[in-house]
Amino acid sequence: MPECENCKYTWTWKETIRKSFRSSLGMNCPNCGEKQYWTLKSKRMNGLLPMTVPLVMVLYLLFDLPAAVALAALFLAFLVIMIIQPFLVDVGNDDEMIG
Ligand SMILES: [Zn+2]
Repeated sequence: MPECENCKYTWTWKETIRKSFRSSLGMNCPNCGEKQYWTLKSKRMNGLLPMTVPLVMVLYLLFDLPAAVALAALFLAFLVIMIIQPFLVDVGNDDEMIG
């Protein structure tokens, strides 16, 4: 879970989800209001998460799964992403660019 670099407040799962949906560019700390940015590592990790969608599509095509199963798998993948995403996010005072 992300921790504010300014006041050391650890964000809750709910706060992280809500804020990361709004913007990954900059999020105000719920405790001190200071703007926090995703660290480079978080950006990279979160860039990998949506890859589960094409992965499910490939499995669907390879194994000739029924559409309902593929849809259920996509829905499950989405849920899992939602649940684990805040645990992978880390924030800092500086906006690091992906180089
Ligand atoms: Zn703070």
